Amino acid sequence: MNDKPHDKQHPDSVAAQALGWIDEATRAVIPPIHVSSTYLRDPDNQYRSGRVYARADNPAFDQAEAVLCRLEEGDEAMLFASGMAAATAVFQALQPGDHVLAPQVMYWSLRNWLMTFATGWGLQVELIDMTSPAALKAALRPGKTKLVWIETPANPLWTVTDIAETARLAHAAGALLAVDSTVPTPMLTRPLLLGADLVMHAATKYLNGHSDLIAGALVARVSNHSQDHWQRVRKVRAQLGGTLGSFEAFLLLRGMRTLHLRVRAACASAQRIAEHFHGHAQVAEVLYPGLPGCQGHQIAKAQMHGGFGGMLSIRARHGEAHAIAVAARTKLWKRATSLGGTESLIEHRASVEGAGTPAPPDLLRLSVGIEHCEDLIADLEQALAS
Ligand SMILES: *Cc1c(COP(=O)(O)O)cnc(C)c1O
Repeated sequence: MNDKPHDKQHPDSVAAQALGWIDEATRAVIPPIHVSSTYLRDPDNQYRSGRVYARADNPAFDQAEAVLCRLEEGDEAMLFASGMAAATAVFQALQPGDHVLAPQVMYWSLRNWLMTFATGWGLQVELIDMTSPAALKAALRPGKTKLVWIETPANPLWTVTDIAETARLAHAAGALLAVDSTVPTPMLTRPLLLGADLVMHAATKYLNGHSDLIAGALVARVSNHSQDHWQRVRKVRAQLGGTLGSFEAFLLLRGMRTLHLRVRAACASAQRIAEHFHGHAQVAEVLYPGLPGCQGHQIAKAQMHGGFGGMLSIRARHGEAHAIAVAARTKLWKRATSLGGTESLIEHRASVEGAGTPAPPDLLRLSVGIEHCEDLIADLEQALAS
């Protein structure tokens, strides 16, 4: 698992060859799927392999974790049974009474968990406008705020947060910074290089990319400041058991081999779709960080490289009923939740999120897949018009 020869390779080469792994014993170029739940103890009662029981860890994770570490330029990575298992482990590694800051605009299920279970367990959770450094500065309580959580671009308005500035402010107050980087992926943004301590991925989405598994991941920059928390995250995974299965780890590694191609294709199409429907007679607004008029475009230009992501939202001109009707009329775009697969998805977000959602009722969230862009535009055109 020595990745030194790959240090200078482009992320595309790292992904395509999964860091060039080969099995020394058989010369196989693809790692086997380890299924053992338990490991042999040495005769002298030691566990020198470092492996004891597969709730804590699994050799089936090693290569995917190594690839993620290299792509994110992190020190250590951990796979989880879902994006939510990864995200909640970050909060569960804190202590009751700790203060945390999270965005008003963020992935809905996590926001929901924070405001119910996390607060019930004793975390002091405050939701703020993370696009405003002034709001962050005012909300940080030095010594008391242990974690700042951000998502950029953020579901479902695709608002952009300045990672480097947020890291600077969080660290000045003694807090860690964790970034949900599911949408940009390491192909576009590497938050650890901008000062973040932790990166979280719903690997269900772009990393796997084929809508056929649920998985999550964390990648950490392990420093004096972050190492205690990171060791507690490791214990949360081992003890609460949000551990990924071996077969899912295999599928995830396979999916990541084409991450660069899929992300590049989705970004190119999303940009064209955003530009096409910007100013369209049936569309009130297009929300996409790649449009010069959109919130955070300048910051996105600085911290996203190679594209602005495959996610955008459009607001139907004639309100909620129009939005729902547009989704009903699409044929190529599939009406479904989730994102980051090869197939394009369309979703009326307010219906999913319910009361308290920041999603306007006329908003349709689009996950752009890798179909031909002209087909995607034509399908949306007919759905908007009829
Ligand atoms: C899907 C998603 C999650 C949660 O991941 P699961 O694998 O569904 O648990 C978290 N954050 C973002 C941005 C997501 O899109």
